[in-house]
Amino acid sequence: MSQQGYVATPPYSQPQPGIGLSPPHYGHYGDPSHTASPTGMMKPAGPLGVTATGGMLPPGPPPPGPHQFGQNGAHAAGHPQQRFPGPPPVNNVASSYAPYQPSAQSSYPSPMSTSSVTQLGSQLSAMQINSYGSGMAHAGSGMAPPSQGPPGPLSATSLQTPPRPPQPSILQPGSQVLPPPPTTLNGPGASPLLPPMYRPDGLSGPPPPNSQYQPPPLPGQTLGAGYPPQQANSGPQMAGAQLSYPGGFPGGPAQLAGPPQPQKKLDPDSIPSPIQVIENDRASRGGQVYATNTRGQIPPLVTTDCIIQDQGNASPRFIRCTTYCFPCTSDMAKQAQIPLAAVIKPFATIPSNESPLYLVNHGESGPVRCNRCKAYMCPFMQFIEGGRRYQCGFCNCVNDVPPFYFQHLDHIGRRLDHYEKPELSLGSYEYVATLDYCRKNKPPNPPAFIFMIDVSYSNIKNGLVKLICEELKTMLEKLPKEEQEEMSAIRVGFITYNKVLHFFNVKSNLAQPQMMVVTDVGEVFVPLLDGFLVNYQESQSVIHNLLDQIPDMFADSNENETVFAPVIQAGMEALKAADCPGKLFIFHSSLPTAEAPGKLKNRDDKKLVNTDKEKILFQPQTNVYDSLAKDCVAHGCSVTLFLFPSQYVDVASLGLVPQLTGGTLYKYNNFQMHLDRQQFLNDLRNDIEKKIGFDAIMRVRTSTGFRATDFFGGILMNNTTDVEMAAIDCDKAVTVEFKHDDKLSEDTGALIQCAVLYTTISGQRRLRIHNLGLNCSSQLADLYKSCETDALINFFAKSAFKAVLHQPLKVIREILVNQTAHMLACYRKNCASPSAASQLILPDSMKVLPVYMNCLLKNCVLLSRPEISTDERAYQRQLVMTMGVADSQLFFYPQLLPIHTLDVKSTMLPAAVRCSESRLSEEGIFLLANGLHMFLWLGVSSPPELIQGIFNVPSFAHINTDMTLLPEVGNPYSQQLRMIMGIIQQKRPYSMKLTIVKQREQPEMVFRQFLVEDKGLYGGSSYVDFLCCVHKEICQLLN
Ligand SMILES: [Zn+2]
Repeated sequence: MSQQGYVATPPYSQPQPGIGLSPPHYGHYGDPSHTASPTGMMKPAGPLGVTATGGMLPPGPPPPGPHQFGQNGAHAAGHPQQRFPGPPPVNNVASSYAPYQPSAQSSYPSPMSTSSVTQLGSQLSAMQINSYGSGMAHAGSGMAPPSQGPPGPLSATSLQTPPRPPQPSILQPGSQVLPPPPTTLNGPGASPLLPPMYRPDGLSGPPPPNSQYQPPPLPGQTLGAGYPPQQANSGPQMAGAQLSYPGGFPGGPAQLAGPPQPQKKLDPDSIPSPIQVIENDRASRGGQVYATNTRGQIPPLVTTDCIIQDQGNASPRFIRCTTYCFPCTSDMAKQAQIPLAAVIKPFATIPSNESPLYLVNHGESGPVRCNRCKAYMCPFMQFIEGGRRYQCGFCNCVNDVPPFYFQHLDHIGRRLDHYEKPELSLGSYEYVATLDYCRKNKPPNPPAFIFMIDVSYSNIKNGLVKLICEELKTMLEKLPKEEQEEMSAIRVGFITYNKVLHFFNVKSNLAQPQMMVVTDVGEVFVPLLDGFLVNYQESQSVIHNLLDQIPDMFADSNENETVFAPVIQAGMEALKAADCPGKLFIFHSSLPTAEAPGKLKNRDDKKLVNTDKEKILFQPQTNVYDSLAKDCVAHGCSVTLFLFPSQYVDVASLGLVPQLTGGTLYKYNNFQMHLDRQQFLNDLRNDIEKKIGFDAIMRVRTSTGFRATDFFGGILMNNTTDVEMAAIDCDKAVTVEFKHDDKLSEDTGALIQCAVLYTTISGQRRLRIHNLGLNCSSQLADLYKSCETDALINFFAKSAFKAVLHQPLKVIREILVNQTAHMLACYRKNCASPSAASQLILPDSMKVLPVYMNCLLKNCVLLSRPEISTDERAYQRQLVMTMGVADSQLFFYPQLLPIHTLDVKSTMLPAAVRCSESRLSEEGIFLLANGLHMFLWLGVSSPPELIQGIFNVPSFAHINTDMTLLPEVGNPYSQQLRMIMGIIQQKRPYSMKLTIVKQREQPEMVFRQFLVEDKGLYGGSSYVDFLCCVHKEICQLLN
């Protein structure tokens, strides 16, 4: 991660006047490094740019016949070798390349698409700009009768609402159903949970101090000594509420607070509901086959289950875009300020009911590529001159078809073998790479896993070392392997460390493992080559012997100090010496204070919070880790870190190498064996077994007129185009932003090809290609119609979290709010039908953008509050940087399921409810999950039969909340609930620890932070407040 790339440019570097309408904010926070970068596609540098030369031929098998190719090896053994079947006949008439033959299929079959707008007139019409302050002063109280709602305009605007499927939560005229007042749940005196309160100036403030109650720490936070009570009026809490644009927008100063007004109320049911949007998409598209045969078609939401059939464009499991229709000109793009980005998850898991990727092998000839831009053969290449030449869809260069690849064309100009070759008819496939694509032109060695265990005093004492050693014995049986292989090709090695490093020789012919100690941590060397990295099966008895001995070996150690950078260095050197890529699994607990490179001091300084220097807390405290990460990537060494901190360990520094090497960071605060064991073991097992590619370089090519300009993820870039990754696994996504460098054409669209060159777990060098065609339009309405909010939020989160390293958070929050308002104002001005200025009109595709944006703004990374642990913020920042769209959606807007409504006969999940306290009920039991945490919330009047069924105890009072696993009770409720939890956990990269929360007991405060539509515990607007705030910004922009 080259840091020069993030230097701020003046307009954004500080909150100075002049943030007006004109500059393209684009979530960019000023990034001059890309403005001058050359057209990416012309650059042949790097392994992906190498042209296959005839001189060096691999000794491999002879090239297959023109029609011959096997399935991806990863699946070949599980299924009979099948011939590539081609798409189903029904689609044979449709070209896989839409522009030449428009498909009959609607690009967006949902009935929702018929409405271009969601008009929130009914309630929001009440939101005159001036009423903001006072309106907010009462909006949350829920005490005023509905009759005080605005008259006239309400019904008029509601009538304009386009037809839509039944949406009980969208307000119809006259159906103002107010949420239950807070007293329903937490009556006065019954609970520390106070009803939402608003500061008289219209800014959301924190709850007032409560002398009887100290909020508990966040789940990922240690309870420090100085845990100050909440202060009222302690300053602005968040962007949504502190929109004092220094220069103001044209139209006047942006003072949020207006004069006191009569009470106005906003019914939460009348504002767009994420649950409704999710449910509507499920209803219209769930369970269906989604064929990718049409350019620019909008896929089902990430929350909708469907079967995806590759018919010429990459599955949305691999690539999702912020919009599937790019504006034709950069002027249009600037006007709308909708980020043009793709979230690419190149190794996404494909469910067993969908086709795995096919593997194309052209033998020594290697993949067919465009001579000019080096794009790989794909459905976007147009064959001409009887099949002798083809025109590149990316750079328009006309290339000769290599003789071995020649095929005649049919009457519509398509090759006769079109459906027999994956690279001609599919969006995604793999190529076997030739030696030209290998380091030093020789085939890579299979990767290795090195397990590196911190054996300092605390890890021994809490039993962690013993646990790891014990469990590895069974987990190593499951090392990933190609399905046709009998045993995994991955070799394993073991190191333990505290202040010094211990290498182990576990060669299969040894009777006992041998230990070699390296005390010179200043310059780590690898004391043994032979016997360090071994085949697990062959050395199994020696390895088990070692794992049995390690806990005893250090049982009497009093060593508290640890090193960290030398540990990574040692692992990397060992891989380097063995000439193979690999992954380090490091189990570490403390701040590395021992004298060694990368030594860290406790620099956690809460005084920096909410200052311009806050960014320092997110930066590594030494550059040792940055250069170490570069070395690791250069040698294909990925680092996965399991952290077990009991206090500040400087995650920003320790986590840097895992982040930049495509590894994963896991963090278990105050690890307690009986509570956290299962979560950790699930994570470890999952991490060892997951599908992964090593030593990868990704290149994103585009058709003319636009190019990839910025990249976010667990990546490292040494130039402007090659995305280097020591490893990339099935859960990691890279978000790519695009910019225009010329006009785009509606005819040819905007084409993207992502190529990842990597080494498989068996040591084969391959190319994985994903192609996606987007539409282009000169109509803003088309652009808005084709947006995907979930992908937008993924982009905004990553760009903001990247900017956190270099920008004051206040500026970042302002830019996010600013850009949200811009996007919506542009829609209002150019696409919506005329209506009263006081109405908030949202494009259908962005209905829930405000609520999701608010969730992002109140995430602890962007919230400047000293109560939140610095390590937790650094941790969450890092996690989000590599998230795919499905994970970021759940992370920012958790799933909340009413369990008391369970139908034990159904296998369906109960319908989710909105994340707000008003949706809970005393008689209810709710399950909440965000991908990191899971909570089971129990209302004080939960049905006894459910309590009995789930916990096997007679009443609410008997429930022991000190458990992280539900007991296995042999009745339908228990089975059903545990099944639901299993489904939610499935496919998530992190194991979620379960917390049982009883209503009106202290841990409820932790749970409440995840009710993201409400006002945050540490500040952060409620959804209603934020919507009003955005609405006001829009009004100002429009004036
Ligand atoms: Zn080309």
